[in-house]
Amino acid sequence: MHEVFEKILGKENVLKNEPMRNHTTFKIGGEADWFLMPQNGEQLKGVISVIKEAGMPLFVLGNGSNLLVGDKGIRGAVVCLGKQMGGIEISGCECYAESGAILSKVANAAQRAGLSGLEFASGIPGSIGGAVFMNAGAYEHEMKEIIKTVEYMDMDGNVFTVSNEDCDFGYRTSLFSENDYIVLGCTLSLKEDDPCEIRKRMDDYTQRRTSKQPLEKPSAGSVFKRPAGHFAGGLVEQAGLKGFEIGGAQVSEKHAGFIINKGDATAKDVLDLVEYIKKVVFEKFQVMLEMEVKKIGEF
Ligand SMILES: Cc1cc2nc3c(=O)[nH]c(=O)nc-3n(C[C@H](O)[C@H](O)[C@H](O)COP(=O)(O)OP(=O)(O)OC[C@H]3O[C@@H](n4cnc5c(N)ncnc54)[C@H](O)[C@@H]3O)c2cc1C
Repeated sequence: MHEVFEKILGKENVLKNEPMRNHTTFKIGGEADWFLMPQNGEQLKGVISVIKEAGMPLFVLGNGSNLLVGDKGIRGAVVCLGKQMGGIEISGCECYAESGAILSKVANAAQRAGLSGLEFASGIPGSIGGAVFMNAGAYEHEMKEIIKTVEYMDMDGNVFTVSNEDCDFGYRTSLFSENDYIVLGCTLSLKEDDPCEIRKRMDDYTQRRTSKQPLEKPSAGSVFKRPAGHFAGGLVEQAGLKGFEIGGAQVSEKHAGFIINKGDATAKDVLDLVEYIKKVVFEKFQVMLEMEVKKIGEF
């Protein structure tokens, strides 16, 4: 298998038994059997075909900022669409960004070109692929508002382009998350504006994030989805759980919607803490919290 992957991707883009803690913002996660880094769509198609033929499970990784990977790691192949597939091109009021482009980079490129629309996403530490897949959002905005078209690959290696209306965007869901499609890139439809005004709005969002979120500690952002009529962080705080810890995992003192890795947290510590929070919040408020962070691999 090693040789087949290396033939398609080159030696340096095939890793065996790769610790996933090196690829997640939580800095948690055991080894992936295979960690593959295609450099373009053609290579991606090649590896998908090999993986499928071998009957191997496949997981697509973006920037690893919404994941809790199990301590026993991931069986099968992790295909990382990272910065090697991170091109950004601006033309008029449109910006095409490849899946591996990091949101802050795309937002900065748009700002320099005097294009507004991505300010809300500039502090979300995900890739374009992950943000489209999740329909990432913040400050009353979401990716859905600025996407014109999305290019994706299905598990047979066929490439399609769909327009916004056909992306089935919902709260942190999309056509791509519902069908396991691989996002290759998207065209964003932005609006002309003064670069200084755009920068001011980005700085304002950054300031709000740094003052409220524990960005100095490893985490995967908000752990829970927003329950109807409530804020998950508010419920956790009212339940008296701010600062509560199990092993190396702690409910952030700064923002109760975040769990932070104090340094040596295991995935089990985080999951035990999640279950404890869910139990206490349900007992107090009869609200069942649901994880937004995705659990991947073996625990
Ligand atoms: C400090 C912090 C703050 C955050 N703030 C926010 C916020 O304000 N709003 C918000 O929505 N999220 C937030 N997040 C969560 C996270 O950044 C987003 O969900 C982001 O969109 C995930 O992108 P990613 O590239 O890291 O995806 P990953 O974590 O790598 O993957 C997430 C999911 O997307 C899939 N995926 C990734 N790339 C692709 C692709 N190219 N094709 C198909 N599937 C793919 C993966 O298989 C996985 O199921 C925050 C996280 C952190 C750590």
